[in-house]
Amino acid sequence: MITLKQALLLGESDLKNLKEEIIKNAKNSNLNAYIFNNSNTLDISQDNGIPIAIKDNINVKNWEVTCASKILKGYISPYNASIIDRMHEANLCGFGRVNMDEFAMGSTTESSSYGITKNPRDISRVPGGSSGGSAAAVAGGLAIAALGSDTGGSIRQPTAYCGCVGLKPTYGSVSRYGLIAYSSSLDQIGPITQNVEDCALLFDIIKGYDKRDSTSSTYDQKPTHPHLNPSKKLKIAVLKDWVKNASIEIQNTYEQNIKTLQSLGHTIIEKTMLDTKHHVATYYILSTAEASSNLARFDGVRYGFRAESTNLKDLYIKTRSQGFGQEVQRRILLGSFVLSSKYYDAYYLKALKARAMIKQQYEEILKDCDLIFSPVTPKTAPKFGASATPLDMYLSDIYTIGVNLAALPALSIPTGKDSNNLPIGMQFIGRAFDEQSLLDCAYGLERELNLVF
Ligand code: GLN
Repeated sequence: MITLKQALLLGESDLKNLKEEIIKNAKNSNLNAYIFNNSNTLDISQDNGIPIAIKDNINVKNWEVTCASKILKGYISPYNASIIDRMHEANLCGFGRVNMDEFAMGSTTESSSYGITKNPRDISRVPGGSSGGSAAAVAGGLAIAALGSDTGGSIRQPTAYCGCVGLKPTYGSVSRYGLIAYSSSLDQIGPITQNVEDCALLFDIIKGYDKRDSTSSTYDQKPTHPHLNPSKKLKIAVLKDWVKNASIEIQNTYEQNIKTLQSLGHTIIEKTMLDTKHHVATYYILSTAEASSNLARFDGVRYGFRAESTNLKDLYIKTRSQGFGQEVQRRILLGSFVLSSKYYDAYYLKALKARAMIKQQYEEILKDCDLIFSPVTPKTAPKFGASATPLDMYLSDIYTIGVNLAALPALSIPTGKDSNNLPIGMQFIGRAFDEQSLLDCAYGLERELNLVF
C-alpha cells in the first residue's frame, strides 16, 4: 500500500483507481477489518480526497455510526466530527468504517457486534483493541492510514500487536467533537499509520483548537511534519524495574532498543515509576464511572435500536439489556456502583486523588528528561479467547493507561519481533504538547531499525 505522503501527490484518476482497489481488497480480505453496510458497500464520505479508514465511533455525516454495538445499529449520523471537516480541507476523506471493541471497551476487538477482526501478522491472533480494525487495516495493506481513539491504550496497543505506528496525542490537542464518548476525560482521537512520517502528516491535519469541544486546548502548537528531525539528540528515561513485568522477549528487545537509542546519540537515564500498581484500578474506576454516565443517553428513545416493549420503563430495560453487550453492561454496572452515594468517597473520589498522584509522577520524571521509553504491552498479540477473565484483560493495559490518566502524548512504534515473528511495540511518552520530540525520536529509531514484517 502506498503511504500517505505518496498519496498526497496522486492525481484524481490515480486516486480513483486506488479507491477501487481498496474496496476490492477489503471485500476479498479475511481480516474483517472494515464494517460493510447493509448494501454490502463501504461508507464513503466524499468522492474526492485521499481515503482514510475511520473507527466506528467517529461521526461522519450520512454514515451509519455504531461503536460496533447493536444498540446503535441503524443510527445515521447527521453531522461530521470536527476532524472529518479538517480532513476534507486537507483533501483527505473518510473511507470505510473500521471495526472496534464495542464502545471502545476492550483490548482485543473480540467484543464487536460485527464479529472479531484478525491480526494480519497471524490470523489466529487478536489485532488488539479497541482500535483493532484501524490497526489491522493499516498493517494488512487495506488502508493508507486510519483514525483510532485511545482512552487507555486503544491506539498504541493494537498498533503494537499489528506492527504499525500509532499516536495518542496530548489531551486537548485533537478535537473530540463528534467522537462518541466512552470516558470523556481520557478519550483522544489519533492517527494510525504505516510509518512515523505519515503519523506526523495526519496529526498535523487533525490537531488544533476547536470551539465546539470545551476541552480543546488553545495552545498554539506548530506543525510537526515540516520540522521532523530524526537526528535530534534527546534525553530519554528508561524504566527498568517496571519492564520486569513484561515477557522475556519484550525485555530483551527493550534492552537492545536502549543500546540503539544510545548509538543514535541520545542520553539515557534510569528512572523508577512509583505506585504503578494503582494505575489499573484508578483507570477502571474513573473510566467506568464516566462511561456509565455517557452511555445513559442510549435508551431506545433517541438513537438506533429500540426493543419491543409495553411501557417506558420496560423500553429502557429491554433496549439496554438487549442492545449492549456483556462487557459494556459490566462497565455500566461498575461505573454506577462507584458513583453511588454510599461508595462515591471510597472509590470515585479516591481514584481522582490517585489520578492526580499518577500525573504528578509522570511529570516529575519528565522534568529530568525529554521522553520516557517503555513497552506498550507486557506480551505480544495473544490468540483469540486468551483472556480467561475480564481482570486478565484489564491487567494487560498496565503500560498504556497511566499516559491517559496523566493526559500526556505517547507514540507507539514497532521495534522488534518475538520468536513467533510477531511485532513488538515500544512507546515514547512526552511532555504535554511536545509531540514533536516523540515523532523526531521515533523517526530516527524507525530509520535505524528498518524493520520489515
Ligand atoms: N483496554 C482499555 C479499556 O478496555 C482501553 C480502551 C481504550 O483505550 N479505548 O478500557
